Amino acid sequence: MTVTTNRPDRILRICPACGRELRIPLQFVGQEVQCRFCNAAFVVSPQAAAEPPEGLRFVGSGVAFEIVRSWTGAPDEDRRSTFLRHPTKQALSDFLVAAECYGPGVLFLGGLEVDSGQPVSLAKVKPGDVRIVPLVNVYHAYFWVKRGQRTRARLIVARL
Ligand SMILES: [Zn+2]
Repeated sequence: MTVTTNRPDRILRICPACGRELRIPLQFVGQEVQCRFCNAAFVVSPQAAAEPPEGLRFVGSGVAFEIVRSWTGAPDEDRRSTFLRHPTKQALSDFLVAAECYGPGVLFLGGLEVDSGQPVSLAKVKPGDVRIVPLVNVYHAYFWVKRGQRTRARLIVARL
């Protein structure tokens, strides 16, 4: 796996404890370092760690699923990705979503309102932030990144 970073003297690694991306100076390969986000200690592998699988998977034993992937905004439009939609346009009030944004872009969550069908903003998740968002009064929930931007994020959707 080839990983490119904008700093040739650094390599990109995923913290095994918190999953965030770290750009580590090359001289630390083979040595133990501490994650600057969660302080977990780990040895910097010369090979890139396997990233979490892209896409959707179920987590735990309840009704919950997790999405971990990168999204890139389209150059000419705000592209929305649906993650939950009620088949008969009823409110998704018994669901909530936990969203963690790793950056570099900001992740936006929105939905379509039950009564009006109009888009409403649900949350803006900045890099390094986690937001827990109840899906109140929307029947369709989606996220997007701004035009031309890219971000990596984890979403966990849970049924209350
Ligand atoms: Zn960490």
